[in-house]
Parts: sequence; C-alpha cells; structure tokens
Amino acid sequence: MSYDESEIREQLVKCMKTLHGRGLITGIGGNASIRMEGTNEVLITPSALYKGELKPDDIVKIDLEGNVLDGVFKPSIEWHFHAAIYNRRLDVNAVIHTHSPMTTGLALAGKKIEPITLESAVMLADVPILEFRYPGTKELGEIVANNIMGHRAVIMQNHGVIAVGYDLIEALTTIEVLEEISTMTFVASHFGGAKLIPADQIEMIKKLYKI
Ligand SMILES: [Zn+2]
Repeated sequence: MSYDESEIREQLVKCMKTLHGRGLITGIGGNASIRMEGTNEVLITPSALYKGELKPDDIVKIDLEGNVLDGVFKPSIEWHFHAAIYNRRLDVNAVIHTHSPMTTGLALAGKKIEPITLESAVMLADVPILEFRYPGTKELGEIVANNIMGHRAVIMQNHGVIAVGYDLIEALTTIEVLEEISTMTFVASHFGGAKLIPADQIEMIKKLYKI
C-alpha cells in the first residue's frame, strides 16, 4: 500500500491545531499518531513541544517498539498505548489522545456516556472508563489496548480520552462527538437529567445503519 508521508505529517499538524483551537488539548497535553497502512511504522506527535503550533518536521517516526526511525524530537511519552493499540487492532490506523474537559469531567464523577443522540446510540454506546494509571508506561499501554477492543474510544479517569479510527478523520470525529454528547449531558444534568432514546428505537436505528 502506498502512502504519502509528507501528507500524513500535515494531517497530524492540522489535527493538533484543530484540537487545540477547540479546547480539547492544551499546548503541552494530548497526542496523535497515524500508522502507515500496511507497515509497522508510525508517525506520532513529539513530546514537550507546543501542540497548537507544530510543524510537519516536528513529527517523529517510530516503530512499534518505540525506536525512533526519523525525527529530531522525542516521541510522545504515550507512544506505548499508541503502539499497543496498533499491535492489537489491525483495523486501526489512527489514534488520538485528548484532555477533552467535558468528557473527562463526567468520567471523573463516574458518569457513563448514555444514548442521548443518534451518534451516541449507534457509535458510542458503552465507552469504557479506566481507573487512573501513571502515564507513559507499558502497563498503561496494555490496559488501554485490552479495553479498547470492540470500542471506538476509552476514557482514562483523571486524565483524558483515547479514540481510534481507520483514519485520522474517523478518530477525530469520535473525539468531537464524545465531547458534544458530554456537553449535552452536562447541560441536561442541571435541569433534571437527560431523556434517553428508548431501547426499541435504538435497535431500529442500528438496523437502519446496519450496525
Ligand atoms: Zn494526556
């Protein structure tokens, strides 16, 4: 499978700018990666640089053991969970980690995502919430990879969100939809709580979308 590495670098830079502009990451928090389809090579955002102003040359190329193949900077300290996910999920070519405030805030209170919109009913039912673990470790990588099987996203309590996709747009969409649902849930909670889509309607919607 052919791929355009410079195009992938541009995609990652643009993605981080979008996430920063939307307040889903801070300048030093969050990371994203793309697996070059059909290879064990991953392009990942660097550690410690300001994420709202990355340049294509700042992106680091690593293999699935974390060895740097190309790049001036160190890869994100969270490369472990990116690599662990790519090892387990052959259907995934993009991973995004954010500190989405609404989604992370609800998880802090132990509140799970509920089917309040079409997207949450068909795409994001049952997003696992993982207990706090020290960041940047192989152990965290294994826990994330184990729990993201069969899901589009997981939430790490006291930390943030990880979303996966066949490509970067799919992962980015999941991050955005999750935060949208979390914001709606938060607003509704101040007025007595959200009304859910009835279970029989969800089944009909799933049939419609062939899920
Ligand atoms: Zn983080």
